[in-house]
Amino acid sequence: MKSMTGICPPLNPPTRILMGPGPSEIHPSVLAAMAAPTVGHLDPYFLKVMDEVQSMLRHVFQTSNMMTMAISGTGSAGMETCVVNLIEPGDRMIVCAAGVFGGRMADVAGRAGAEVTTLERPFGEVFTAQEIAEAVDRVKPKVVGIVHAETSTGAWQRLEEISKIVHDAGALLLVDCVTSLAGLPVDVDRLQIDAAYSGSQKCIGCPPGLAPVTVGPRALEAMDRRRTKVSSWYLDIGLLRNYWGNNRAYHHTAPINMNYALHQALRLVVEEGLEARYARHLLQHRALRAGLEAMGIQYSVKAEHALPMLNSVLIPAGVDDVLLRGQLLNEFGIEIGGGLGPMKGRTWRIGLMGETAKKSNVLLFLAALEQCLNRQGVRPTAGAGVAAANEIYLQG
Ligand SMILES: *Cc1c(COP(=O)(O)O)cnc(C)c1O
Repeated sequence: MKSMTGICPPLNPPTRILMGPGPSEIHPSVLAAMAAPTVGHLDPYFLKVMDEVQSMLRHVFQTSNMMTMAISGTGSAGMETCVVNLIEPGDRMIVCAAGVFGGRMADVAGRAGAEVTTLERPFGEVFTAQEIAEAVDRVKPKVVGIVHAETSTGAWQRLEEISKIVHDAGALLLVDCVTSLAGLPVDVDRLQIDAAYSGSQKCIGCPPGLAPVTVGPRALEAMDRRRTKVSSWYLDIGLLRNYWGNNRAYHHTAPINMNYALHQALRLVVEEGLEARYARHLLQHRALRAGLEAMGIQYSVKAEHALPMLNSVLIPAGVDDVLLRGQLLNEFGIEIGGGLGPMKGRTWRIGLMGETAKKSNVLLFLAALEQCLNRQGVRPTAGAGVAAANEIYLQG
């Protein structure tokens, strides 16, 4: 037998202020829920937890879709679930990619055997209804996939007109709501979104590990008409329906304690109220934006497309990206995100998601950023960032 040469010290993770692109801060009651006793995945108690998670998710998605559940896996598993169930080899799919996550959806669709048409836009831009109308007309796809809140760029894609265009063409609309859900309105039924997925660790405020997914009647019909089996056994909604639906038949062992955490995080969302939660995200964004702009820092996305929960800004000239983010983390415990893809080294991504979206974080961040910039010889007007944010809070 091989023996271990000594025992690892017990875990002692630092407490961070998570102002990056996710995970976001976790309310202590959500962490406490995770430490509750584990029951079996078919225990009547857990079945009740599942029912309640489903009904709270329906509320957050603003849908009456029966097939609304938490997929065991992160946001990307939600993406994969939707794509592999909607797509059969050879099906045509349009994916709108104006950032890393749109690009990921195109990759997933290609792996599922779709004939993918990728519409591209430079990072930071959004799609117009007209260019989607042209593409849908030309390609005649089964599915159109688009990202509501592109976390890699901070851009907010409006969906109203696009939804109508996609449906008029007889196609299905698949929407990535990973970063928008519980931070911006995601009105699945009103917008007639056929399938949508999210992640637990962004604006819902739960640790990473579950992916809320909702599937509407038209999408379920398309799944029922499949001629081939879903390529993934684990993510097959036809099989998952038997567990999350009425049969409650064993499929896989659900991550019990993760579902406890999601349950508590969703309780907090419902208790706050969706409108109040959206308003809170917007207020914190306005304060942060005023502060950053007063310090001479510009957004990398036009104001009318800027997401409240993900603030992507241009790194000021002469500032060392890695050094500054290291200082924020080591001296202030603040995590922010760097740029992704072509924005690497060019942008910072400052998250105000879920629990993170609060005054104390915005003010501390602005003050800490000023100190770190000063250290690199960049000297915005002293105190201007905090003062501008305070002005927004005064106006309310
Ligand atoms: C975070 C994110 C994902 C991926 O989620 P993971 O939990 O990292 O797997 C997908 N799409 C968007 C828009 C995201 O922000």
